[in-house]
Amino acid sequence: MEIKTLAPDLSVSPQLTAQDVGIAASQGFRAIIINRPDHEADDQPYHEDIMAAAARHGLGVRYLPVSPGHLSAQDVENFATAMRELPAPALAYCRTGTRAVSLWALTQAGHLSTDAIIKTAAAAGYDLSGLRARFEPADTQAHHGNGKSPHHEVLIIGGGAAGIATAASILKRRKGIDVAIVEPRTEHYYQPGWTLVGGGVFKREQTERQMAALMPKRATWLHTACAAFAPEHNEVILEDGTRVSYQVLIVAPGIKLDWDAIPGLGATLGRYGVTSNYRFDMAPYTWQLIQSLKRGKALFTQPPMPIKCAGAPQKAMYLARDAWRRGGVLDAIDVEFHSAGGVLFGVQDYVPALQQYVDRYGIELCLNETLVAVDGPAKTAYFDVIGTEGQVRREARPFDMLHVAPPQSAPDFVRQSPLADAAGWVDVDGETLQHRRYGNIFGLGDAGSSPNAKTAAAVRMQAPVVAHNVLNVLDGNAPNAVYNGYGSCPLTVERGKIVLAEFAYGGKPDPTLPSWLIDGTQPSRAAWFLKEKLLPGIYFHQMLRGNEFLARPRLLPHRPTAHEAPAACDFETEQRRG
Ligand code: FAD
Repeated sequence: MEIKTLAPDLSVSPQLTAQDVGIAASQGFRAIIINRPDHEADDQPYHEDIMAAAARHGLGVRYLPVSPGHLSAQDVENFATAMRELPAPALAYCRTGTRAVSLWALTQAGHLSTDAIIKTAAAAGYDLSGLRARFEPADTQAHHGNGKSPHHEVLIIGGGAAGIATAASILKRRKGIDVAIVEPRTEHYYQPGWTLVGGGVFKREQTERQMAALMPKRATWLHTACAAFAPEHNEVILEDGTRVSYQVLIVAPGIKLDWDAIPGLGATLGRYGVTSNYRFDMAPYTWQLIQSLKRGKALFTQPPMPIKCAGAPQKAMYLARDAWRRGGVLDAIDVEFHSAGGVLFGVQDYVPALQQYVDRYGIELCLNETLVAVDGPAKTAYFDVIGTEGQVRREARPFDMLHVAPPQSAPDFVRQSPLADAAGWVDVDGETLQHRRYGNIFGLGDAGSSPNAKTAAAVRMQAPVVAHNVLNVLDGNAPNAVYNGYGSCPLTVERGKIVLAEFAYGGKPDPTLPSWLIDGTQPSRAAWFLKEKLLPGIYFHQMLRGNEFLARPRLLPHRPTAHEAPAACDFETEQRRG
């Protein structure tokens, strides 16, 4: 809990948990103000849980949600009223604390000097200089863009695998370039490790690093979230309403895990035997359940594609089955794999090896079955099952353990933006990863529309391509580095063995190593060694530092037509203008 004091009666902090509320009470806070709407992140507590915790500790509480980038005059008035009515001192929070600080600052406009407001916020670690114009007395109403926009040569949205790897690759190529990364989290996760946490191989701490430690030293970290895009002005809008302009924008905010799309799931996770390796805090629970289950039924589910790491739902299942085999309880536990898809794995070359494990482990394959609801207390999952004639029927399945891979989609602020394609992803060319309409925008990682497997392995190949092409665009040239759609999925079929699927666009196998070392279509110990011992190091020490290990981009001598338009050009508008 990082609490920053702004005034005697008000402090702010990033997201609180119910437990933090108790700590805040013990530190003398008498009220909580919740400025973060529910559903912004998959691991965020619901406001009702925070309100209940506040009530338990005898604190006043007010839910005043503010959407990122939409801080209205009414929001400011509500905040001022809450400050007047609630017992002091109060602790206000949102995702990072930025919205809470901005609300406080706007209540002070006209009372404190603009410099004093900005200095106080800065002392607490928040840069509100982009809101300067709104603090002037005549301009405390909500509107955007009156401040002088901060500007960066290259602005990156998202400090995950893709954002940091690309920033590092750009900075390696060009020393003095001005790169900024917008990233709200203080922790960075090595998500490929979560399968091993759920399988009892890694401790979850091995998959977590402080974001500050991974940010490239010469990049500026804007510790806040992006709320919207204004590509026609070469600007993004941050969650406090500040606009930041850029010469080139790289969009890499990952994928949205939609836990609430399945009624009952969000409230049940972590209890009643319901778990998911798709969450840092749940993966240890998966291993706990595997160890404690001695008999009964375990269900593993896979939602419709695309999802990140399409093999992850199966990996969790094989490792569980292997642990039960080793524990001598294989026959006492029935396992069903419910997949919304019609095949076991999307790339046919790897299916025979996987099918052998399905048979050996006695797993019941339930294809074309989509999880639609979970009743935790009744330990029952509901599926929509597509019959042979295409008819859909709903079926209830009891369980003792349920591992869920949630439905996934493009982040809302991308889906609702001019950057999105029809499905909501950042609309990029599959080879250059340049936006199809805005020549000075690139997209990569899970949020991009390129039809590859959404994996960190794909990002490892994409980041150097984007880094090269971004510099080309800044230099007035056409992008000429191309990505071939490479993605990889190490399927942990048993502890100590992996089927290493590596493939490019069109499902074409694309192995990195010679087959005498690793034959990806067969389970192998060498591939397990790679996954457990080498890949985390390659991720943290090579990829995130711009060392393009086995990932130098392929360059074309000349890149034709559509992408040769000048930077910052909206191609469609240009065409309409004739
Ligand atoms: P992320 O790494 O998720 O990063 C996105 C970043 O954007 C986050 O830091 C987030 O905080 C930030 N962000 C979100 N919203 C905003 C906003 N509004 N403004 C600014 N920033 C924002 N891949 C493999 O290659 N091999 C594997 O074995 C593998 N296994 C996996 C197993 C599991 C269980 C999971 C969950 C994933 C696995 N993956 C695997 C997939 C891999 O982790 C992702 O494909 C990869 O992390 C994608 O990188 P990204 O940068 O696009 O997204």
